[in-house]
Amino acid sequence: MELQNKIDSTFENRFGGHGTVYASAGRINLIGEHTDYNGGFVFPGAIDKVIMAEIRANGTEKVRVYSIDIDDYAEFGLNEADAPEQSWARYIFGVCREILKRGGKVEGFDAVFAGNVPLGAGLSSSAALESCFAFALNDMFNDNSIDKFELARIGQSTEHNYCGVNCGIMDQFASVFGKQDHLMRLDCRSMEFEYFPFNPSDHKLVLIDSRVKHELADSPYNKRRASCERVAKRLGIETLRDATKEMLDAVKTDITAEDYFRAKFVIEEKDRVLAVCQALTDGDYETVGRCMYETHDGLSKDYEVSCEELDFLNDVARECGVTGSRIMGGGFGGCTINLVKNDLLADFVETAKKRFNEKYGHEPKVYEVIISDGARKIADAK
Ligand code: ADP
Ligand code: MG
Repeated sequence: MELQNKIDSTFENRFGGHGTVYASAGRINLIGEHTDYNGGFVFPGAIDKVIMAEIRANGTEKVRVYSIDIDDYAEFGLNEADAPEQSWARYIFGVCREILKRGGKVEGFDAVFAGNVPLGAGLSSSAALESCFAFALNDMFNDNSIDKFELARIGQSTEHNYCGVNCGIMDQFASVFGKQDHLMRLDCRSMEFEYFPFNPSDHKLVLIDSRVKHELADSPYNKRRASCERVAKRLGIETLRDATKEMLDAVKTDITAEDYFRAKFVIEEKDRVLAVCQALTDGDYETVGRCMYETHDGLSKDYEVSCEELDFLNDVARECGVTGSRIMGGGFGGCTINLVKNDLLADFVETAKKRFNEKYGHEPKVYEVIISDGARKIADAK
């Protein structure tokens, strides 16, 4: 409510009157890492941290938008040549352009927005921003005729074409489709998805952000992809989605040890996502947690995308008796995601902060998250 009030009064001061209020969420991924480009599964959910915007058509051909958090204002037209300079505004411009390119309608509007998704922490504040505006413009100008998957693609294309980020579909998908108390298993080959209940009464999800980033270049990512592609080719299949451990072992002597361990991780990770789905259906959070630790080990030892700081946080989680813990995201820095019993939470957070600080000289950031709804209308114009 605080966020909404702030946006509401800022809109009134800046533009007069009121618009319609929309929001969309950041996301976590419980399990299923480095699986998207192998045709496998990811398992994200939207969180209770959002970007919220108040928007009103202004009857012109211009968009006028104010970012409360950055305290910056942008004004731009809707033609390709009108791209704003500010990088935050390009996310909104991109969404407008991608809707127009698909034959949808966008007219000028006034908007004020703010959020509480931490920027650049791995919770996808950019997807929350894109999804919020894509959902809003669909509602305001297109009678909700653009289907939700296309809204996610509009966000993804915005990153590709206007922000220089060559991302997959998971973040925008999760932000658009998120549902309270549910995670979604997305099949990155068929794009089919299914909701699974996630509402542990005696556990919480908490992210520990190491605030380190070791690899800025794309090269390790590309190398991992190349390993996976080589093994798939050797197996005569399109992606490792169709591989089994037996198939891999049968070609072990024909491939490098490095490629073997990369492919082994991908195959095991696919099976782990399926195991977690079953465990959630059974309400068995101990198994979910065990799979998370296995994923961490696989990412660290076989896929080799961890780093000292994240392995350290994972060790602290184990020592504190945390149910499950693993790197979240591509690796080489960023967050661990932790499934923690309620009565351990305060102790774990305290210990992780203290021990990390002693060793690395700065405190990690801590974000508790609740699995919540994705893109939605918050309130009609007053
Ligand atoms: P993330 O992992 O959080 O998605 P990105 O670098 O992809 O990190 O996106 C962050 C960018 O999204 C910011 O630099 C900014 O341009 C935009 N952004 C996200 N949240 C906000 C916000 N609350 N206000 C203004 N811009 C935002
Ligand atoms: Mg992003």
